Formats: sequence, C-alpha cells, structure tokens
Amino acid sequence: MSLKKIRVSLGSAIVLGLTEGMISAEPTTAYLLTYRRGRCLANCAFCPQARFSSGRTDMLSRVTWPAFNLNDVVKGIERAADDGRVKRVCIQALNYPGVQDDIAYISAYIRSASDVPISVSCQPLKYEEMIKLREAGVERVSVSLDAATEEIFTKIKGELATGPYKWQTHLDALKNAVKVFGKMKATTHLIVGLGEREEDIAYIMQRCVDMGVFPALFAFTPVPGTRMVNHPRPPVAYYRRVQIAHYLITHGIRRFEDMKFESGYIFDFGISTNDLHSIVLSGEPFLTSGCPGCNRPYYNEDPRGPIYNYPRKPAAEEILEIEKQMGLRKNDGR
Ligand code: SF4
Repeated sequence: MSLKKIRVSLGSAIVLGLTEGMISAEPTTAYLLTYRRGRCLANCAFCPQARFSSGRTDMLSRVTWPAFNLNDVVKGIERAADDGRVKRVCIQALNYPGVQDDIAYISAYIRSASDVPISVSCQPLKYEEMIKLREAGVERVSVSLDAATEEIFTKIKGELATGPYKWQTHLDALKNAVKVFGKMKATTHLIVGLGEREEDIAYIMQRCVDMGVFPALFAFTPVPGTRMVNHPRPPVAYYRRVQIAHYLITHGIRRFEDMKFESGYIFDFGISTNDLHSIVLSGEPFLTSGCPGCNRPYYNEDPRGPIYNYPRKPAAEEILEIEKQMGLRKNDGR
C-alpha cells in the first residue's frame, strides 16, 4: 500500500501547520477526507462528491478540502495532538472499492505517531471490516443515515437517487458498529431540513440512542453542482427545537414518548418552561454535536450567520439571539 495523499479540511490544515490562513474558530478535531481521482460511487443528492454531481471534488458540505502529502499530515497531527490543539482525528471516506483498506492504513499510520482518538465516517462496512478498523486503532465509527425516515433516505441516497444504499443495511451496520466499538461509540449523522418533520427526527434520535448510537446533527446546506442546490436551508427556529429535543434525548432527560407533537411539530418537550429556560441559558444544546472533541466550525453555515451549530460555547448576546429565534424573548428586547 502506498497512499501518498489525503485531503484535509482547510481549517484543520491551518491548525496542523500545513497551510497559512485566518480562521474565526479553530477546529478541535482534524478532519481528513480520503483522496481519490474521480467521484464517490454513491449518489447522495446533497453531496458535491456524488457520482452525478458537477460540484467541486475538493468540497464536502460548504468546506474546501485541499490535498496534502500523507506524511506531512501525520507529522502535523502528531505535533497538534502533543500541543493539545487537536483532540481527535476524523477520517471521512468516499465510497470506492478498497476504501476500507485505505482507512485502516491511514488509521494505523496515525496511530503509530500519536495516541489521539480516531473516528471514521464511512459507508456501511461489514462486521469483519469494522474489527479490522478497531485493530488499526480506530476508536469510533460513524455510518450516516443522514435522513430521518426511510422514505427520505430512499429518495436522497438510496434507490430513487440511483444510490447504492439501503436503510436497513445502514441500521444493521450501526448495530454492528455498537458491537465492535461499544455503546455510544457508534455515531450517525442526521441532516435536518431534508423534508422530515420534527416528530420524525425526534423519533429517529430516540431509536439511535436506544441502539447505543449517538446521533450528530447537521443543518442542510445547499452546495453548487448538487441536485439539492435549490433546496432551502432549515428555518433556524426549527433547528433550535430539534437541538433541544436532541439535548433532552441524548442526555436521557426526556424520551421521545414524553414529548407532544401536533402536525409533526413539537409543542411540548415534556419539561417545564423554567427548565426549558435554564437549558437554553446553558447554551449546551446549540453546540456542535458528535464525537467527543468534534466542533466542525462553520461546516453548515457562513461565520456571519445564522449559526446553526456553535463550535464553542455561545456568548451571552448569542444566547439572547437564540431565545429570540425560539420565540422565548420578544425581538424588541423586552
Ligand atoms: S461527529 Fe464529528 S468526529 Fe464524529 S464522525 Fe462525525 S464529523 Fe467525524
């Protein structure tokens, strides 16, 4: 095996000392993306890497991923992990033949230089392939459902999108990931704003948690060249309600069954207004969710806002803004 190149998110490349630039929030995880000439074999409607996308192949979501020499990247990770600037490495993988061997190779190489925890985000792998990743030093695996329901999944990344993926195969892979890596060491990504209802997303989050899978929330971002370029971003108020439901469910404070819905909208989280206020004031629900140490700065949003996921604790004035977005405070500041 002689992998020579790997893509690194621009913000991570700056933190790893591979390039120079200004960033408004440093990523606390180094985000890597497998390098490949050509496109991913999958065909997810939102993704610039998709088989039929005409988007840039150095983009994922709204982030650019320049390619670097793998040796330099591993040296950068070693330095940044020693300095405490990087708390995790996340290897995101395109779908192509032999990708599991590439991920195992990259993971073992990083592990030979540093004991920084490694997450892998990839297509549904077989049980034995996951064991191989664990042996190579991978700590956690994410298999992205992306969609909250089977119907949306099939339309956006499955059969109706001429993609290779099946809802049940993804769920089975997540179950295997829990067996291999342990409870809450399997992650899935859920993209909010693909046409689901709040009730659907709360339900799938509960189902994931009950399986031992941690759901990480993303806000849908239209990317040029993709089939969903004209699809709108989710309204911020909608995203905030989903973030509160996510916080309650992943912290075991309330379950899906404790919440009340009307026409798919959450109208009661199953907690008192006072408790809701204290949870909002803590700022915690609005932080980027995912593996420990993952903050994905401005992955979904322009730094000028609106911010869907905060890469660091929101400041007091940002909490005020969030309260207004949620209708908990009047816009005139009273
Ligand atoms: S939650 Fe963050 S670190 Fe974990 S797999 Fe997703 S992007 Fe990577």
